Amino acid sequence: MRKSNCCSNPSYTKDPKTKKILCRQHFIQHFENRVKKSVLKYNMLTQDDHIGLGYSGGKDSTALLHLLSKVILSQHSNNKLTVITVDEGIEGYREGFLELTERLSSKYGLKHVIVSFFDLYGATLDEIVYKNSKSGSSLSACALCGILRRRALNYGSQIANVTKIATAHNLDDEAQSIVMNLLRGDAGKFKRITRFPKKKFPSLIPRIRPLVKVSEPEIVLYAHANSLEYHSVPCPYSSSAMRNDIRRFLSEMEKKRPSTLINIVNVHDSLSQYFTSSEITSTTYSCEICKEVTTQKICTVCKLLDRLNLKIRII
Ligand code: SF4
Ligand SMILES: [Zn+2]
Ligand SMILES: [Zn+2]
Repeated sequence: MRKSNCCSNPSYTKDPKTKKILCRQHFIQHFENRVKKSVLKYNMLTQDDHIGLGYSGGKDSTALLHLLSKVILSQHSNNKLTVITVDEGIEGYREGFLELTERLSSKYGLKHVIVSFFDLYGATLDEIVYKNSKSGSSLSACALCGILRRRALNYGSQIANVTKIATAHNLDDEAQSIVMNLLRGDAGKFKRITRFPKKKFPSLIPRIRPLVKVSEPEIVLYAHANSLEYHSVPCPYSSSAMRNDIRRFLSEMEKKRPSTLINIVNVHDSLSQYFTSSEITSTTYSCEICKEVTTQKICTVCKLLDRLNLKIRII
């Protein structure tokens, strides 16, 4: 077995940037310190925050659940954590997931709130994707899911009465979002990406992404180093996403040239200081149907549901 560069313990992994070989304990420490640094740098937490973790069951959100409850929030007795799960209704994908979430929530002693697409919108994502394809729309399953999940997570967070929503977006996701908006020529969305818990609208719950500076392979290693149990069934719709092309390209670049991903995020960080707040916020209305705050008279969710002959069932 190879020797570590950090201490006399057996080696666990090699840091791709520094090339140092680390033991399991020092890798865990190094990883957790980097997450804590991001939390501080972007002012993600205040002392009295009640965090609602958008939990998907995968390795990223399981690692975040562990980190928030065991490492970050355990140091502040005033902070609270609630697990919020969204059941989209994708056949085969969520099997065993709710049981896992229940088990983990009770392991960490946390409250668990479940919101399902079926309860909220009267149809599962599978049904919505089918209806959408019949309507001739070119919106992908992921685009539909993204719009509806965001609302479902907000709804669950309002029920749980949280002050911030934490999601497990990692460095790969963040770099992909930045590049995706560049490739789409969407300057507005490019500027709106922020790692600070800013409120898009005054009545919306701010979001934080504590894993934003750690990469997907590092999260897998962290989950294994802590023997975390997670749900690893891939979503049947994931291959259709444009994000996948960017993911493949960027992860190849990262392998060839380590630090590609962090460089993208750091450049976006540096540019962010030039984005004025008037470019980030816009005029808001209360949606004429569901009353949610929106930039149009009728929100994106209600427009989408109306086109599919559906409507929000819980307001
Ligand atoms: S891969 Fe797409 S459809 Fe599947 S859960 Fe993610 S966003 Fe939703
Ligand atoms: Zn060590
Ligand atoms: Zn609406």
